[in-house]
Amino acid sequence: MLISSLLFGDDFYFMLDSLGNLERTHSCGEVRVEDVGGEVVLMGWVAKKRDFGIFTFIDLRDREGITQIVVSEEAAADAHAKAKNLRGEFVIAVKGTVVERTNETVNKKLSTGGIEVQASEILILNDAKVPPFQLEVAGSENLASEETRLKYRYLDLRRPRLQQNLITRGKVLTKMREFMNLYGFLEIETPILLKSTPEGARDFIVPSRIQTGKFFALPQSPQILKQLSMIAGFDKYFQIARCFRDEDLRADRQPEFTQLDIEMSFANQEMVFRTMEGVMKQVFTLSEHNFETPFPRMTYADAILRFGTDKPDLRFEMELKDLSEDLTDTDFAPFAETLKNKGEIKCVVAKNKADYSRKQLDELQEFVKRYGGSALAWIKLGDEISSSLLKVLGQEKIEQFAQKANAEKGDAVLIVAGKKSVVAQSLGALRIEIAKRENLIPKDVYKPLWVTEFPMFEYNEETGNYDAMHHPFTSLMDEDVPLFKRAIEDGETELLGKIRARAYDIVVNGYEIGSGSIRVHQREIQNLIFKALGLTPEKAKERFGFFLEALEYGTPPHGGFAAGIERIVMLLCQTDNIRDVLAFPKTASAQDLMMDSPGNVDDSQLKELGIKIVE
Ligand code: ASP
Repeated sequence: MLISSLLFGDDFYFMLDSLGNLERTHSCGEVRVEDVGGEVVLMGWVAKKRDFGIFTFIDLRDREGITQIVVSEEAAADAHAKAKNLRGEFVIAVKGTVVERTNETVNKKLSTGGIEVQASEILILNDAKVPPFQLEVAGSENLASEETRLKYRYLDLRRPRLQQNLITRGKVLTKMREFMNLYGFLEIETPILLKSTPEGARDFIVPSRIQTGKFFALPQSPQILKQLSMIAGFDKYFQIARCFRDEDLRADRQPEFTQLDIEMSFANQEMVFRTMEGVMKQVFTLSEHNFETPFPRMTYADAILRFGTDKPDLRFEMELKDLSEDLTDTDFAPFAETLKNKGEIKCVVAKNKADYSRKQLDELQEFVKRYGGSALAWIKLGDEISSSLLKVLGQEKIEQFAQKANAEKGDAVLIVAGKKSVVAQSLGALRIEIAKRENLIPKDVYKPLWVTEFPMFEYNEETGNYDAMHHPFTSLMDEDVPLFKRAIEDGETELLGKIRARAYDIVVNGYEIGSGSIRVHQREIQNLIFKALGLTPEKAKERFGFFLEALEYGTPPHGGFAAGIERIVMLLCQTDNIRDVLAFPKTASAQDLMMDSPGNVDDSQLKELGIKIVE
């Protein structure tokens, strides 16, 4: 029995119509005043229906938009009778004539708002159960829980906003392909079943049935394969590459994501920069915004110094200021101790916030603590100067601080002391928090930036080893090669933390859009880098033997970049939620609620693979 006859009761005669050979003439976002008088055929979903006795109005929706349909009892009795039975999300076809709306009824919010279609015939192509949540809600305030919406993702995706986001995503990919083709890049597809290429995160592994007991790994990125493509002589490669990382997820991460991956032979940093700036400029033609090129540049060290992060949001100022120098002679124990331990004392200025209440300052204090900052000291430049440090440092010092921080009357100065990394993280985050609270971040502005000269290695406190900050195939800055030699040859391991790489990121509005580097192209150097990372020659051979060998067969100097598609689309669609730009995303606990994956597999499948699940 049809669901519809269930819905409408047994005494109601209801049959679905067949599409037959009927074809659409227009999408639901396409008909305009110029089409008035013409006959059209539209198909889509019933977004809304309003009954006014002899007239029924239907908002008909497809991915291109909404068209208003009017069904008059007098003009089309059959269609009118059918329209009475329609419910939300029914799938229908409408044949009718385009009429101009009167001035009072024009709907400026719709692209088709100047017209409506007077139906002569309606086909009900399918019915629909009442959706488990309301699709047509204004804004995002009354949305059903994200969990429910993810379970019925195909319904959530009917919302115009998500449809727009995915359309934008499709356009971004097209723009990228157009640009890469125009500039002579070749699209090469690399395999998804790979061997583990450790790049910091955990691999997703796939058991092999034919080679029982062995595993493939899904690519964290096609890094080694694109480098091998350079060795193979392909010169300029690109790929819209799916990447997989089995990380503990944060709100803005997904276990799988897509990158525009590029690699170029005989390339220096400037060539990679020009290419990526061109791509970004091209992609952002999809917005109103014109990306000025070349992008400004900032070294990693400068970014940390001035903004406390390697992803500075340059849409507003509020730079961090260092007060350490003014405190070298202090006997105030927390500051003296900090400086003795090679820490620092830094501040940010909150403009016009001398009126911060105790409660607000306490909140900011709590905020700083989340980032490991122990205490937040403050100075308020109201009619009188007040400060949590007044008693211990005295008026003169406080005034000196305010001046050093470029604070003016009416401002508040917020100060954190501690380990350099903690001060950077907590003040960097506080800077953004205050900007958000005080609405200092302009909308519709994109501020791109190259962050350059990343450290090659970073100390891992857990293992006591150095890891590659970017990845181990990144080359060193020529200037730092002597330091590297000393670190390796003379065993001055701590120097590794000072060595800079030819690695760079693009940052836009505080988001890392992507990163890349000029690569190591000589085997000897690659060996030394593995050595610095604590990889024995045997281990290096086991994991990367094929690649190390390839480096010996005429490897051109090369470099490249990978840009995160989700991040770019998020910026264009002005959303902070990565799931808004993916068709079928996973939750923050790496589950697909619609498919209910990951799921179990049959015992027989496990047996074939030689796998036993141990509880
Ligand atoms: N493979 C690197 C990544 O995914 C990007 C690159 O260096 O090209 O981050």
